Amino acid sequence: MRAMVLDQFGGRLQLKEVPDPAPPGPGQVLVRVRACGLCYTDVKIASASLPGPLLPRLPHILGHEPAGEVVAVGEGVMSVAPGDHVALHIYLPCGRCRACWAGDETLCDSVRQLGFNLPGAMAEYVVVPEINAVRIGQHVPLEEAAIIADAVATTVHGLRERAGLRVGETVLVIGAGGLGLHAIQVARLGGARVLAVDQAPDKLELARKVGADDAFLIQSEHAAKQVLAAAGGPVDLVVELVAKPVTMSLAAAVLRTGGRLLMIGYQPGVDVAIPTPDVVLRNLSIIGSTASSLLSFRESVRLVEQGKIRPVVTDRYRLEEANEALERLKRGGILGRAVLLVA
Ligand SMILES: [Zn+2]
Ligand SMILES: [Zn+2]
Repeated sequence: MRAMVLDQFGGRLQLKEVPDPAPPGPGQVLVRVRACGLCYTDVKIASASLPGPLLPRLPHILGHEPAGEVVAVGEGVMSVAPGDHVALHIYLPCGRCRACWAGDETLCDSVRQLGFNLPGAMAEYVVVPEINAVRIGQHVPLEEAAIIADAVATTVHGLRERAGLRVGETVLVIGAGGLGLHAIQVARLGGARVLAVDQAPDKLELARKVGADDAFLIQSEHAAKQVLAAAGGPVDLVVELVAKPVTMSLAAAVLRTGGRLLMIGYQPGVDVAIPTPDVVLRNLSIIGSTASSLLSFRESVRLVEQGKIRPVVTDRYRLEEANEALERLKRGGILGRAVLLVA
């Protein structure tokens, strides 16, 4: 099969002919990848700027936002059949560690992840366990189904499972990019008033289009005032997708007493400060959230099928154009999500 292969960190991906995956064993599903979303984490992996344990051994196939068609199923597979369209949950927790026993599968000590420590989906085929291949209605374009894996499910998981979003709250989303545009939709769907900030004017427009009540430029010295005015006071929940000092100060300035700061974005090597009196004397909660549980992923698939969340795909490339797509992503030139179409 054809695949885009990373041979050395910092180098370009190479289009290569690699062996097809083995036929699906019992409980496994062979999927013909039709679309694979691109994430800034792909840039971090390719340039080796992720923490060591998350880096793959080379050569490696990137790609952790896949959707496609089932080609073959192994013995005992019941929930999908050849021809079905599937979105793929990319996390394979071990089931044998304390986090897994406790139901905290996103914290599994030895989780395996497509595109991280397993071969990813910038390739024509992948094999996954049956529970990772979730059937999705054929009315959903596969390029939209693809980005459920991370851009949609990570925000659904964070807002629903980690931050406990409640009807009637006011939410500020910091960073209206690949994840933020979906966080806005999830917050709105959950009954919140939603504001957004970003550094790019064209992202503000898109943020309003997908459901933000208002959106502002982050670099404005008035950003906090604008948010407070638009929210009618301090906000209940900040969804932080940027993780820079300036965005953390903004979060601290607009959160209400008892408010929650949900951190999904992170930057290796960047430490941020938050005023300790704010956290202690105002009872702020700082909540980290990584990945998505299988439950949040499945809920995300249903929400997309029902048209309640619309995956925001703004750029399309062919598989062999992955380097150009990653370059553009690195330069901040992608408004929503970019997707590789795998013919
Ligand atoms: Zn990602
Ligand atoms: Zn585990």
